[in-house]
Amino acid sequence: MEPGKTRDRMTKHTDVNTLGEFGLIDHLTKDIKLNQDSSFLGIGDDAAAIDLGGGKLMVVSTDTMVEGIHFDMMYSPLKHLGYKAVVTNLSDIYAMNAHPKQITVSIAISSKYTVEALDELYDGIKTACSFYNVDLIGGDMTSSPRGMIISVTAIGEGSMDKLVTRTGAKVGDIVCVTGDLGAAYVGLQLLEREKQLYMNQPDIQPELEDSPYLIERQLKPEACRAAVQYFEKSNLLPTSMIDISDGLASELFHIAKASNVGIIVEEAKVPIHDQTQLKALEFNIDPITCALNGGEDYELLFTVAESDLEKVRFMPDVFIIGDVVEPANGVKLFSTGGKLHAMKAQGWNHFTPGE
Ligand code: ADP
Ligand code: MG
Repeated sequence: MEPGKTRDRMTKHTDVNTLGEFGLIDHLTKDIKLNQDSSFLGIGDDAAAIDLGGGKLMVVSTDTMVEGIHFDMMYSPLKHLGYKAVVTNLSDIYAMNAHPKQITVSIAISSKYTVEALDELYDGIKTACSFYNVDLIGGDMTSSPRGMIISVTAIGEGSMDKLVTRTGAKVGDIVCVTGDLGAAYVGLQLLEREKQLYMNQPDIQPELEDSPYLIERQLKPEACRAAVQYFEKSNLLPTSMIDISDGLASELFHIAKASNVGIIVEEAKVPIHDQTQLKALEFNIDPITCALNGGEDYELLFTVAESDLEKVRFMPDVFIIGDVVEPANGVKLFSTGGKLHAMKAQGWNHFTPGE
């Protein structure tokens, strides 16, 4: 290491917030090179891919959930939490047009967790494994000074000719999503509201019965296995794909940047569930803002060539929301009022000041 670099690192104290999540990943990894012949795809997509020979790929993705940042024990049942920790990782494998087969689970827990609590967590993990037909093949168990941290690694099978990355969108392609957006975010707002009410007045009952869909989308999401199975069955190969974990806007920017294209999405075509509409308005939030910036929907955002339009039209639960355009257009929303608005990629900022 150069002495100048070491001196800089000892004297400078740059706050990670100055870079943001993606800026920080970029800063730390931009000089990393792949030296192994088998490293087929490295950092920068939903999952990495390893060449197994004969056109076969192993697809790998990791995600970590931290108590107090990604979940709150006040309203996250441990069984749901275990289920969600698995599903969010499988979603990244499906986003590569690959099939998840195994997971490993690493857990750090503080002494407040009992064996019974961990049994609940594992019930959720096992339920997800059995529903998605993946094997739990290992992990790690350690202690944490405070709260729980769960990190899941998902491993899947893909093939070289079917792998779909964020980089292949072409001008003229159609932009699609596999389901409605914004519900998980509004579900979180509801749970947060009821938590506050409960903290102020513990004897009142939470009012969550009128929005079961929103609560389920937040606490027990599903991954888009059916869409990937459909692609295979109907011989449809998206040109690019990403899963919607940080919000539609953020993911559109990832595809636009990786593929060097612009994207225009029509506001009126963005699918939003009735319960999301109603509750968002109750919270005084524009429902489209929830869909664009909410996150945790775990739907797939993908592009297809115009020649595949008929195939996506027949695809169940798929919505065509926009077009891929020249890069100079940037990422824009064509509003219901008939205007083009530049989109902002807000997404989630995992780094809150002072943490
Ligand atoms: P996703 O939201 O699909 O899970 P992320 O936004 O977490 O993806 O990560 C984006 C890319 O950066 C992925 O390719 C991921 O593997 C990579 N990445 C994330 N964190 C790190 C890290 N600490 N070191 C190296 N690569 C990372
Ligand atoms: Mg992803």
